[in-house]
Amino acid sequence: MTKFRSIFWHRRDLRVEDNIGLFEASKNSKNLIGVYILDPNLLDPNRNTSEAKNWFLGESLLELQRNWERRGSSLLILNGDPSKLISKLAELINADCIYWNKNFEPYEIYRDKKITELLSNAKRKVYTFLDQLLVSPDDLRTNNNEPYKVYGPFYRKWIDIINKTNLLDNSLIQISSTPTKITGLDKREVSSIKNSDLNYCIIRKSNSIYDLLSSNRFKYTNLCPCKPGESESIKQLNFFIHSGSINSYNQARDIPSLESTSNLSAALSLGTISCRAVWNGAQISKNIIIDEDQENSINTWIKELAWREFYQNALINFPELEKGPYREKWLNFPWQNKPDWFKAWKNGLTGIPIIDAAMRQLNRSGWMHNRCRMIVASFLVKDLLIDWRWGELFFMKRLVDGDLASNNGGWQWSASSGMDPKPMRIFNPFRQASKFDENGNYIRKWIPELSHISTPNLLSGEIISPERNGYPKPIINHKNQTLIFKELYSNI
Ligand SMILES: Cc1cc2nc3c(=O)[nH]c(=O)nc-3n(C[C@H](O)[C@H](O)[C@H](O)COP(=O)(O)OP(=O)(O)OC[C@H]3O[C@@H](n4cnc5c(N)ncnc54)[C@H](O)[C@@H]3O)c2cc1C
Repeated sequence: MTKFRSIFWHRRDLRVEDNIGLFEASKNSKNLIGVYILDPNLLDPNRNTSEAKNWFLGESLLELQRNWERRGSSLLILNGDPSKLISKLAELINADCIYWNKNFEPYEIYRDKKITELLSNAKRKVYTFLDQLLVSPDDLRTNNNEPYKVYGPFYRKWIDIINKTNLLDNSLIQISSTPTKITGLDKREVSSIKNSDLNYCIIRKSNSIYDLLSSNRFKYTNLCPCKPGESESIKQLNFFIHSGSINSYNQARDIPSLESTSNLSAALSLGTISCRAVWNGAQISKNIIIDEDQENSINTWIKELAWREFYQNALINFPELEKGPYREKWLNFPWQNKPDWFKAWKNGLTGIPIIDAAMRQLNRSGWMHNRCRMIVASFLVKDLLIDWRWGELFFMKRLVDGDLASNNGGWQWSASSGMDPKPMRIFNPFRQASKFDENGNYIRKWIPELSHISTPNLLSGEIISPERNGYPKPIINHKNQTLIFKELYSNI
């Protein structure tokens, strides 16, 4: 079989192990070089990235680069417009083939189509693979060949497909092992790329862009539960499984003071771990459980993995979700959008302890517990009457795991503007706090100035002035705001 000179383009798959596109590229290439492109469209600090996410990305790229070098080839990290840079690189090294794994955000789909055309016009072959999701979006259609709009039936179809196909010994999905040796280009060729007109786009330690990706910008790396890089992601998965956290996920996943969830969201979003490895982790756990509760916990966790795929499918089928509500009547909602309330929410200074603890967790650690994401999102929309898209954007500017599909899905779910069949869900922040932070441990951790307050007062937010230590009084009354919200909603 003829083998070719090829490029593998990493995007949301920052790993060498179990990377389907890379596996295929390394199998079929005589010489293979890797590239990652810092795409300004995906790394806009005003729109879709945060210091925490940049740090996660930067550290993961450095490990990826070392992994390529260890295997005998190299990974170039470039900065600029991918449609120009991929073509230029292909031309410079006279590549026959370009490989990548498919991505599904609207911009990514548009970008890849454009680049495929450019490369094909230059007589280069493009090979693309499904790696980011367990089930191909093409297979996830209703009996009437329509896209799913509701999670329940989507999940049943998704799990059914997984159980029927792609299986190795009926439980584990096959993992593709990248060869330990990849033949790259010879040294002279690599240095000629470095001296070519691509030179100014190559990221080196001396670049200002490099600084953006480092921990110099994101100061709280020790507080962030998501750890960058392929090796750390595998460790996190193993810990989640072997510590038994997966077996008690049902009981503990809603308690924000416990470190009881996998913390794999950034790894799954940027692909430092594969969705197959994660699935297999759950199957391995099933083989060693001792009771039904544990099995239920593992199944609940698998359902969370399905939510990730549900939201990606939603965005593929309804790209307009990126811009606004799925339920159009929400376009007429008379948002109050008070800037001082928004500022208080962002800074964790609303005077409502559970909200402020959660927002401070986000601002400091780059991450927020899922239960709290739902509470603060409901509060922004249904108490403060602020457009959920403001919150969605703020999350993207802070989260280490900021991901268009999951973030948009989470916000539309919380605002009741999405596909979910239950349209009205209003969280009472005090009741949520009593239920999920009953000892006040989470609140005390993130609002240390309230650590001396008794638990009942901490949960109800009824704190007398002398004891406030500078902590603000509540900016709103939950009951009144809920009435106003309901009234406004009934008018649309
Ligand atoms: C308003 C709002 C915004 C959100 N924004 C994001 C975001 O930008 N990026 C993101 O990855 N998740 C987002 N989520 C979903 C969820 O909060 C996080 O995925 C989860 O908290 C990550 O923690 P974990 O990795 O420990 O999850 P685990 O509980 O261990 O779950 C395992 C994996 O399943 C996926 N998952 C879990 N819950 C969800 C969910 N509700 N929706 C989609 N995928 C899920 C994640 O990939 C996660 O890593 C958001 C949820 C809400 C309510």
